[in-house]
Amino acid sequence: MHTIIEPFKIKSVEPIHFTTKEQRINILREAFYNPFLIKARDVIIDLLTDSGTSAMSSEQWAGIMRGDESYAGSDSFFRFEETVSSITHMKYIIPTHQGRASEKILFSITGGKGKYFISNTLFDTTRANIEFAGAEGIDLLCDEGKQPSLIAPFKGNINLIALEKCIQEKGAENIPLVIITVTNNSGGGQPVSMSNIKAASEICKKYNVPFFIDACRFAENCYFIKQREKGFENKSIFEIAQELFSYADGCTMSAKKDAFANIGGFLAMNDETLAMKCRNLLIITEGFPTYGGLAGRDLEAIAIGLKEVMEEDYLKYRIRSIEYIGDKLDAVGVPYIKPTGGHAVYLDAKAFLPHIPSTEYPGQALCGELFLEGGVRGVEIGTVMFGKYDADGKTIPAPMELVRLAIPRRVYTQSHIDYVAEVIIEVFKRREKIKGYKIIYETPLLRHFTARFEQL
Ligand SMILES: *Cc1c(COP(=O)(O)O)cnc(C)c1O
Repeated sequence: MHTIIEPFKIKSVEPIHFTTKEQRINILREAFYNPFLIKARDVIIDLLTDSGTSAMSSEQWAGIMRGDESYAGSDSFFRFEETVSSITHMKYIIPTHQGRASEKILFSITGGKGKYFISNTLFDTTRANIEFAGAEGIDLLCDEGKQPSLIAPFKGNINLIALEKCIQEKGAENIPLVIITVTNNSGGGQPVSMSNIKAASEICKKYNVPFFIDACRFAENCYFIKQREKGFENKSIFEIAQELFSYADGCTMSAKKDAFANIGGFLAMNDETLAMKCRNLLIITEGFPTYGGLAGRDLEAIAIGLKEVMEEDYLKYRIRSIEYIGDKLDAVGVPYIKPTGGHAVYLDAKAFLPHIPSTEYPGQALCGELFLEGGVRGVEIGTVMFGKYDADGKTIPAPMELVRLAIPRRVYTQSHIDYVAEVIIEVFKRREKIKGYKIIYETPLLRHFTARFEQL
């Protein structure tokens, strides 16, 4: 078999600014050891996120020029609506400026004190919006998903037994909705099977609880279903996506992920009363319902991107390019979440740096070292992001200490990826000398974005 090549040619390029190790020592110190505080021009390979960092296609750029900027009822909105509707079959489609805006609207209307939102794993902004609205988020990931080195096909599945038990315990009337994240971003980019979605949806129906999908990476999830779940091998990604959404009453989406757009998102649902409430709040916070915080040209880019992301040549390359990093890490025994997920490699910092306790943030320390070694920027998904304090101010650590290296869509080539693997392996060789961090500044919600650290 031939090498799976990038299914695109490069039309426009952006220079990378190189730095020396000496320069990076200063850059990291000045950024208080927080990758979010490093200037983008000081990063060589930027794997902070796959969000909004995609390379748009020539068709999308053509769409940008075609964008209809009419305040109300623009052509671009109708093209956007038609595309989203063809995939999701949802009745009400509401554009927003990004995923968290959809979450803010949805959870401030449905949430509040005494309410519980159940998920396989809530993404950080999702959880923050739920908590900000006064409600509580509950993650019920399947057992396989909690074991980083275990190889299983659908480690993003929700624990169905725990889901039903939780609905009974908390009372269906206190659960405004259940939301399943596909793929499970915070849990390793692992996919959710169609049978799990279907079963979760049936449980929700039984108790009359609406079932939503956090659809940010729906196409990557559908590709895994096609590869790994019986009965889907001959279906198109479009057909699989249609089936996936058919089990849901609504969804939230960040178009910065599986729509190749630099900005955008949407909220979709079948319930008219809820949709009207969402639209009213949208008008106050985002904009008129036919643009929702976006320019007409953005709606155009999203509509085109949503079709491109379901192309199989693209998804095959996409999923393989992530797995390729995993193969290189396996060769020297670098610990990471197995198998590799859809959009990122998640290094297991707990196993990588066993001498650093959670209270000294091993994931954050590993992020710092990857930057020092080769200017590679990743993000901690561990105690910095999800840790809490108990009543005595003692740290309650996150269940896993991970470093996510998210691969922007259609941006880096194989040699960039080879370089990233070399950097990880160099750091791995000198892992025993790496030290932990302490926090010197933090905010109560989403502290990872702005926290400042000191090396111990
Ligand atoms: C990125 C993301 C969001 C939030 O979307 P934004 O566009 O960044 O606001 C929500 N859920 C998941 C799973 C995500 O990956």
